Parts: sequence; structure tokens; C-alpha cells
Amino acid sequence: MSDTPPLARKSHGRLSISANRQPRSLMDEPPRIKGAWTAKIVTLFPDAFPGTLGISLLGKARELGLWALETIDLRPFGIGKHLNVDDTPAGGGAGMVLRADVVGAALTQAAIGTPKDRALWPVVYLSPRGAPLTQAMAQRYAQAEGMTLLCGRFEGVDERVLEQFGIEEVSIGDFVLTGGEVAAQVLIDATVRLIPGVLGNAESAVEESHSNGLLEHPQYTKPAEWEGRAIPEVLMSGHHGKIEKWRHGMSEALTRARRPDLWAQYLQKQGKSDDGEA
Ligand code: SAH
Repeated sequence: MSDTPPLARKSHGRLSISANRQPRSLMDEPPRIKGAWTAKIVTLFPDAFPGTLGISLLGKARELGLWALETIDLRPFGIGKHLNVDDTPAGGGAGMVLRADVVGAALTQAAIGTPKDRALWPVVYLSPRGAPLTQAMAQRYAQAEGMTLLCGRFEGVDERVLEQFGIEEVSIGDFVLTGGEVAAQVLIDATVRLIPGVLGNAESAVEESHSNGLLEHPQYTKPAEWEGRAIPEVLMSGHHGKIEKWRHGMSEALTRARRPDLWAQYLQKQGKSDDGEA
């Protein structure tokens, strides 16, 4: 038993291949732990996945069946001989808009076998108009059974489909991408690494930036001296109490200097004002 990697132990769930309406090559699919957190991605570009989600810790965790990824290609839902998925915007203007009927049909297929309760299965449209993605949102998604992500292209999607499916809009920042695929990978990366067993060292998700409202303290490793720069002495002291205090102080100083918005929230939570008074 001792040579069994911890993630592959039976207590984590039964391996099974789940039914999938799309005739994909199941042989190439990683094994799937029953009930594993699953991302269903509606996209015109399924080849963009798993992309960065296929490497390193997340890739390994997916191979072990700790989470799963399914793409739903928008193209086969297209209309007519050319399988058109988009059309010109009502009211005129530049660009093209993804059709409500096409996107609706793909989302209906994605919904098969998923809970209707949006708390158990969020449905998200990646969009620059959305709520800015935060660590708290990633924590909420990680606690669901899985989620559906809709990747837009062109000018976006017909508004009616967003209303019809009770879709939450999420942005990865105040800039405009050409499509939602990269944004979906950002959201999934931030979420999946919070699923128990995915990160090797569970502690690293507790202490990092944004988990406690502060930015992380600076990190150092070998060599002890580099280009005439030494590692701060306290970190070499072996005195855990002093090290903790130093790290916390650096976290606070960095947050205060770089992110006044986070700093104000942090102080409010602590019931303090900026001069340190309670
Ligand atoms: N016309 C739209 C932008 C479309 S960009 C607007 O002005 O709001 C094309 C697609 O890229 C979008 O449908 C969305 O899925 C994705 N996208 C672009 N910027 C994004 C961002 N900041 N966050 C998340 N998704 C984004």
C-alpha cells in the first residue's frame, strides 16, 4: 500500500467512465472519479482545451480523475448547410452575434444530467461585462458539483439566451479578449486548484495571496546570497514566531502600498482604522 500515491487511493471515489452523448474517443479520455467536479465548456473552439489545464498539477489531477473537463462544440448546433452560429446584430452595427437558438441548443445539451440548482451547478458566461472574478467566487465554484462555462466570440451572445438560462456573467478583468476560451481556462484554473487533493500541499492554498484578504509576503530560496543580495536575516533565524510576524508585516505593507482597495476592506474586517487604532 505504501507505494500507492495518495490521490489514487480508493477512498477518493470509484473510477468510472461516464456516459457522454458525444461520440468522442473514450480511450483517450482520462479516467473519471464518480461525482468528480466537472467543467462543461460550450465553445466554437474545443481544440483550445485542455490547453494550460492539461499540464502540471491540474493536468495530473485530471489524469487521476479528480476533476473532469467536457467540451461541447457549438458548430454542430449551427443553422443550415453551413452550420451558421452567428448573425448580424439587430439594430445594426459592427461584428456578429452568436445566435440564441444555436447557443440555447448547446446549453440544453450541456444541462443534461446536471442539477438545476445554480448553487450546485453554476452556469457562467465569460464576458467583459461580468462581475470581476475573485478568489471568493472560485471558492464558491469549487464547492459546486461542477459548472457550465459559455465562451463567447465576435460581439458576444444574444442577450435572451443569458436570461433564459439564468446565466451569471463573469469577467477576468477590465480588458477585452477575442474570445472566452482563455478566460474560461483562467476561471477553471483558479477553481480546480481549490478542490481537495488537487494541490500537493494543501496549506499553500490557505496562506497565499487573496485567501485572507492580503497579498502574499515575498518568497526566497537558495542561494543564501545572490548578486550581492542576502535573504532577509529573520528567515534564516529558524525562529518561527519571528518569521510569522515578519511575513504578516510584509503582507500588510505590500497590500497597503499596492492595493488600497483591498487594504481598506481588510481594515474594515479587522475593525481598525488606517492608523492601526481599533
Ligand atoms: N462586444 C463585447 C466583447 C466581445 S469580446 C463587449 O463589448 O462587451 C468576445 C468574447 O470574448 C466575449 O463574448 C467573451 O466571451 C470573451 N471575453 C472578452 N473579454 C473578456 C473578459 N475580460 N473576461 C471574460 N471574457 C471575455
